[in-house]
Amino acid sequence: MKIDILTLFPDMINAVLNESIIGRAVDAGILEINAHNIRDYSTDKHRRVDDTPYGGGMGMLMAAPPIYSCYKAVRNNIANGAKTKVVYMSPQGKVLTQSKAKELSELDNLIILCGHYEGIDERIIETIVDEEISVGDYVLTGGELPACILVDSVSRLIPGVLSDSECHEIESISCGMLEYPQYTRPLVFEGKEVPAVLQGGNHKEIEKWRYKQAVERTKKKRPDLI
Ligand code: SAM
Repeated sequence: MKIDILTLFPDMINAVLNESIIGRAVDAGILEINAHNIRDYSTDKHRRVDDTPYGGGMGMLMAAPPIYSCYKAVRNNIANGAKTKVVYMSPQGKVLTQSKAKELSELDNLIILCGHYEGIDERIIETIVDEEISVGDYVLTGGELPACILVDSVSRLIPGVLSDSECHEIESISCGMLEYPQYTRPLVFEGKEVPAVLQGGNHKEIEKWRYKQAVERTKKKRPDLI
């Protein structure tokens, strides 16, 4: 999958996504992630990309022309017929879910637009955006962190990105419930011992115990999932 991120702060994106599992997938060629600097597409002599809003009001708005030029340059490098979506990270979008991440992981290309300041000119949303996605009902200063969250949640569902030992299928939410509690060495920590059933090798009993724990903690922590 190829992911293109349109941003004013490509270093923020690269700092996060070049690391760990996603960075490894990029190095292995399973994923291609490019952060494009919208400022490079400004025609202003001071490389300005924002302006005051029509009608007055607080703050600055990202202007449409540099975003559109950046988008067109990215779009020109995508083959005709490739399954592609353009997502604008926005607190006005639908809140990201695991099923949305799964749906997006099946695309060939994902283009993500990050807003900043007071947001972007509405005409960009009308012209190029397929979908607005929020990472939660709170407001951040920019779309870069939300974009990294989206890329992480989508990328780990692409075959080959996680190794078998990092499998996502039995994790919280993915299977409709929260995951059971997990323990590793030492056997006793601060007087608390690993549950006896996990210390034995009875896999049937372990499976039963884990299922019961998953149901109980889902009821307790996230009853809305049941
Ligand atoms: N004035 C805008 C509004 O009320 O909808 C908010 C602008 S916000 C300060 C700046 C940028 O941060 C947005 O354009 C968006 O890209 C990003 N952003 C902020 N909160 C977000 C959230 N919860 N989810 C996704 N993106 C968000």
